[in-house]
Amino acid sequence: MLASVLIAKKRDGGELAPEEIQFLIKGYVEESIPDYQMSAWAMAVYLRGMTPLEIESLTDSMIHSGACMPKLGSSIQRVDKHSTGGLGDKTSLILAPLLALFDLHVPMISGRGLGITGGTLDKLEAIPGFRTNLSQSEINGALNKIGCVITGATTDLVPADRKLYALRDVTATVPSIPLITASIMSKKIAESLDSLVLDVKWGTGAFMQRKDSAIELARSLIRIGERMGVRTHAILSDMNQPLGRMVGNSLEVNESIAILQGAGPNDATALTIELAAVLLVDTGKAKQLDEARGMLKQKLDDGSAWERFLEMVRFQGGELLGELPVASRFHLRAPSTGFIDKIDGQLLGQAIIQLGGGRKIAGERIDPSVGLEMNVRAGDQVKEGDLLLNVYAQTESDFMQVQALLLSSFEIGSHPKELNRLFESLNDHGQLS
Ligand code: URA
Repeated sequence: MLASVLIAKKRDGGELAPEEIQFLIKGYVEESIPDYQMSAWAMAVYLRGMTPLEIESLTDSMIHSGACMPKLGSSIQRVDKHSTGGLGDKTSLILAPLLALFDLHVPMISGRGLGITGGTLDKLEAIPGFRTNLSQSEINGALNKIGCVITGATTDLVPADRKLYALRDVTATVPSIPLITASIMSKKIAESLDSLVLDVKWGTGAFMQRKDSAIELARSLIRIGERMGVRTHAILSDMNQPLGRMVGNSLEVNESIAILQGAGPNDATALTIELAAVLLVDTGKAKQLDEARGMLKQKLDDGSAWERFLEMVRFQGGELLGELPVASRFHLRAPSTGFIDKIDGQLLGQAIIQLGGGRKIAGERIDPSVGLEMNVRAGDQVKEGDLLLNVYAQTESDFMQVQALLLSSFEIGSHPKELNRLFESLNDHGQLS
């Protein structure tokens, strides 16, 4: 087989056979196919798309580029959640220990910030000492002892994705539904899960800006999960404003502590409970969503979720003595009177990166103590001079540098607008319900 022939076949809209896709992925990981051929192929896929069978073959070839996580020989069901990323999304920190309380194993392999959205590993590393590079035997130990773990991928887990993702990142081929599907699902299937829930986000503070693209992605993810033997469900969530009040690594850990203690903001708490409830019903731990929601809420209110989180933090080397320290606080005030029509998450995210809370280049150190505290939500009525945001920055001059950008992220209109629902489920036929 010749890589150039397979690139041409995809470029001209053809369907690649499973062995052709396997040839490309294996060759790329073993370095017989160079970056320039793989980028040409990725661009051809970006432009031409893939059939469901091609996406399945790609996912399968990527899984087999490494080793799957071993099952631990117990009858305990293994579950996980994957979010496509959104501003202020801290649900993973709460959901993993919460589900572990129901005799489920949650081996959550997470990532770092991508674009304007923060990453779960970066958030947890704001806790002094917290390790996110556990070995497979440490992951097994955490599952056996605590029931959950949140860590980065081991070197054995889907090496093809690590290589291909880095290439896509610099060749404008990230936003391709087939490539995203294979990237996400290969990592989740390699965790040897029984059941998976996906939080597919759309809006200005998400990776996918348009709702119809998010629905298409959700359908593609569910189709591959089901075809490959993992029970897969999806919730579509609105990210046209940050989730919760806090955005920024330490601020989000602090807000997660509040949610874990049953005292967090309604939106982030409700979405976390909904995602976890889907898994409790799917694994037979609850009969219906309403019952599951009640069971989960009780574990937040009675302190047991918080206790389990602390056990996970200690197991992973972290020391959490209370709220994490944050930078100095500055105020951003409304420039006019009216209703909050739009909050542009892309601009808020860019401001956080400029404050040092996200990366401008790969591998850069980030400042966990900076970020934003939202004082208003979309639809709120404000008067000129009302507080829109608390901005946590190292110096007043840092704050001044992002002030105009932050102000431009708010649109204030004269009439209230209809609000989006925070989340909607996709039923078994891929329809919103
Ligand atoms: N997240 C992933 O893991 N992969 C993608 O391709 C996009 C988002």
